[in-house]
Amino acid sequence: MQAYSLAFGFRQPYQALVDSLMCKDAMDHKLDLVKQLGIVLQGTVKPMITQCCIHELYLQGKVIQPAVDLAKTFERRKCNHMEPIPGDDCIANVVGDKNKHRYIIVTQSQHLRAKLREIPAVPVVHINRSVMILEPMSEASVQAKEKAEQQQMLPSALETAKVAQSKPAEEPPRKKRKGPKGPNPLSVKKKKVKRPPAPLPKRPATEDTDKVGGKRKRVEAGQSEHANASSGSGHDRKRRRNGASTTVVSAVRDKGAPDGED
Ligand SMILES: [Zn+2]
Repeated sequence: MQAYSLAFGFRQPYQALVDSLMCKDAMDHKLDLVKQLGIVLQGTVKPMITQCCIHELYLQGKVIQPAVDLAKTFERRKCNHMEPIPGDDCIANVVGDKNKHRYIIVTQSQHLRAKLREIPAVPVVHINRSVMILEPMSEASVQAKEKAEQQQMLPSALETAKVAQSKPAEEPPRKKRKGPKGPNPLSVKKKKVKRPPAPLPKRPATEDTDKVGGKRKRVEAGQSEHANASSGSGHDRKRRRNGASTTVVSAVRDKGAPDGED
């Protein structure tokens, strides 16, 4: 019943529309009809019977008096058939083509059960060898259920799409955090200026001067290592940068610069 509740809005107490033959069979099998319905449907049940169906029982007389007594305890469902019609037809008429009142049909009529399988959202209960059974959902009901689920899915699918779009926007800030970890360009420049020309190494100066592009990169990398060691002084030496650059590079190399070219 949970599937019916989710897909079609069935609510407890479930309105169980019982036909006359079911009342009779329940008494024959000594079934507590209402209790069994509660077990099979897994919920509270309001048993009901149509005027035409109870009329069918009256017609059969005292032979089935217990069934009549049982039916009298049910809520009477007005079907507005002035002249009583066969119970099957009456129930089919009450259900209509949509079962909009959300009845669960409890019937022993093969003919009616076959008919109700063509209509979506009609749970059908019957007794088979004194066992009460809720029939598997009919194909018509399954299709209606899937259609209903797709319509329910649509809005939620749109929401998830929105969420997916908003997620990328949240990630960029993380990348910004990574920035500070790299060498601070300001501190790099200051260091260049600081170092006074150091005693020069065995390396031929020409090698360094030839590779200007490589040179500068090296300088920056080496200076970043010393960043903490030196304090910012000697702004006045900035202008000498060009002249001093060569010596600085070689000084860095002396100290064992990383990834040497050789
Ligand atoms: Zn009727």
